Amino acid sequence: MSAAPRGHAASGFLDPDEPAAYELLNTTGAGSAVLVCDHASNRIPRRLGTLGLAPEQLADHIGWDPGAAEVAHRLSAHLDAPLVLSGYSRLVIDCNRPLANAASIAEQSAGVPVPGNLGLTAQARAVRVETLFRPYHEAIDRLLDARANRPSLLLSIHSFTPVLDGDKRPWPVGVSHWRDRRFAALMLKALARRVDGVVGDNQPYPIEEAIDHTVPVHGERRGLHAVMIEIRNDGLRTTAQFDAWAERLAAAYHEIEAEAVKLGRSRADT
Ligand SMILES: [Zn+2]
Repeated sequence: MSAAPRGHAASGFLDPDEPAAYELLNTTGAGSAVLVCDHASNRIPRRLGTLGLAPEQLADHIGWDPGAAEVAHRLSAHLDAPLVLSGYSRLVIDCNRPLANAASIAEQSAGVPVPGNLGLTAQARAVRVETLFRPYHEAIDRLLDARANRPSLLLSIHSFTPVLDGDKRPWPVGVSHWRDRRFAALMLKALARRVDGVVGDNQPYPIEEAIDHTVPVHGERRGLHAVMIEIRNDGLRTTAQFDAWAERLAAAYHEIEAEAVKLGRSRADT
């Protein structure tokens, strides 16, 4: 008999037939890249219902990053890279927000109130942290620990909405960094040659320690070079588009891989 995935039995928050907090693919991938996808899924644990939202709201960008998991799967194959994907919606708990950030369990997202997140008790919050957030990040930690003796470059794969708060966002793709820009600068230059339009430089989102968890914690604080790749989701609707983005990203990565590996430790680990 195999044990239930971590988190299931501990709290009873997830039923035994529900997916685990994370999915880990190609663990022993021999490439230098490690991929994570914080907003891969819009699944809500059964016992939370729909968080009071309509299906079309959960399917929208507030629930997840549409298309990001499809690109990440393909990129994992191109780069022979391990890939960790979150198993549940960012609306349940956002795996890329520090726990102290108010948007960790968002009471509203892009102006849409989230009824199921209002007035939560400390215990209700703690269950989401222990069942979803921690297992996902511990999986990334274990993966990176196991690779401690070889180069790892971390790419966090996201997608973003073309219009936010009435503002049109012109970049088809963006590359964001925290304190150490060097890996991001290489990726940005290599991507710019393969993309129509301007590649976002720390756009649409710069990385900030108070807002972002994954790149600061698993990347630069470990001494690893890390970037957040954000693809505009109006270019992520079809299989052909998923394929094309994965191929572009893989080609850009391969072009700069040797140089990026030679950068040594990230400066932000000091
Ligand atoms: Zn995202």
